[in-house]
Formats: sequence, structure tokens, C-alpha cells
Amino acid sequence: MTVDLAARLQAVLAQIRIAEQRFHRPSGAVRLLAVGKTQPAAAIAALAAAGQRDFGENYLQEALDKMSELAALELKWHFIGPVQANKTRGIAEHFAWVHSVDRLKIAERLSAQRPDHLPPLNVCLQVNIDREASKQGLDEAEVIEIAHAVAALPRLRLRGLMAIPAPATQLTDQRRPFARLREISEQLTATGLALDTLSMGMSDDLDAAIAEGATLVRIGTALFGPRF
Ligand SMILES: *Cc1c(COP(=O)(O)O)cnc(C)c1O
Repeated sequence: MTVDLAARLQAVLAQIRIAEQRFHRPSGAVRLLAVGKTQPAAAIAALAAAGQRDFGENYLQEALDKMSELAALELKWHFIGPVQANKTRGIAEHFAWVHSVDRLKIAERLSAQRPDHLPPLNVCLQVNIDREASKQGLDEAEVIEIAHAVAALPRLRLRGLMAIPAPATQLTDQRRPFARLREISEQLTATGLALDTLSMGMSDDLDAAIAEGATLVRIGTALFGPRF
């Protein structure tokens, strides 16, 4: 199993490097986030042994269990699931990043609850980029105002935007919503925010996301195999 996961990691990293070249992105511009939801701690440990450092989790309790099992490893944990108000304290205390902030109230709680001995919590705002697909995420119309409010919170560091577009099979169809997210990010930059992260692309659409400027792809299935 360890050998298998190490080989899959190398295959995904190779796919990322090839896409960077194909779409004229600088080499190393795209970071891999390994999404371990429903996967056992042993699988994460195997990827960590193969060199992977950034791991994404969707459910707080599942993540906390894995963190305590893997405490000896120096891993960077990213929360990528829906953030409920009653989960913000655990997230603020245990994660380095949150990709799925979609309400100002959630951001305010995360900032208030971020412990002083930790660096500011890195956050992305999740944007509902094609509204039919999901109810999660900010509407495009509210992103600029909320981004400035979040950027002003003392214990958060606004890093960029995240989206989960509706599934599509053709590269051109996959690219459209990612292009839109990049445009929104460029608008934010033009209003004075210093952003460096576009969290977009999953196992089935990472090439399209890299083509449109992803700086971080969130990959589960291509690394760990199908979830059951
Ligand atoms: C599960 C999940 C992923 C990974 O999806 P795969 O298709 O398995 O690569 C990425 N982002 C989020 C927010 C997820 O919930």
C-alpha cells in the first residue's frame, strides 16, 4: 500500500508539472493539497513518508482524530469542508488554512478564536462560481465587500479564493468557471488586496484549473483511490 501511494503521489506531481509546462505556468507554481477525507491515518502517513506535507480535511472530528494519531509528523492541515458556526473554535485552534469561508460571521468567529500563540489563520473565500451547482459559497456580487472585511480581521490572513465548479468533461467547459474565479481574483487585487492563492482543481479537472491560474489543487481520488 505504501509503495502504491508513493507511486500515485509521483504520478499526480508529474501531471501537475506537465500541466504547468503545457499552459506556460512557472515551474513549481502549483502546490498539491492531498485531500484525505474518509481515508485512514495510515494512508496519510504513507503520503507523508513520500514527501507530501499539505493535507486537506472536510470534517472536524475526523481531522482531529487523524491529527492526534499523526502528531509526530510535521504536517500542514487545511480545512476545506463547509464551516458550521459551532465548529469554528476547533478549526481555529488546529488548522493552518481554511479554504471554505463563505460568510463574514464565520470569518469573525475564526479570527476571534484563533489562539495568540499561533500565526494568523490563512483563509480563502469560497465563491459560488456557477450557482446551479452548489448552494455553498459567496455570490460574486458580494465577494469584494466581504473580502475587504475579512482582510481587516486581525487574526486572519486572506490568501485568495476557492471554488468547486459543477462537473464537466471537456477541457474548455471545465476552464470557463476557473477563468471566472481568476477574473474575480484580479478584480480584488485591483482594489488593493494582496492575494496569492487560487484554490481550484480536483482530480477530474486539475489540468483546466492549472490552465487558468490555480496555485493550489485539491486532490483526493487520484491519490488515494475512490472513496466508499
Ligand atoms: C473531496 C474534495 C476534494 C477532492 O476531490 P477528488 O475529486 O477526490 O480529487 C477537493 N476539494 C473539496 C472541497 C473536497 O470536498
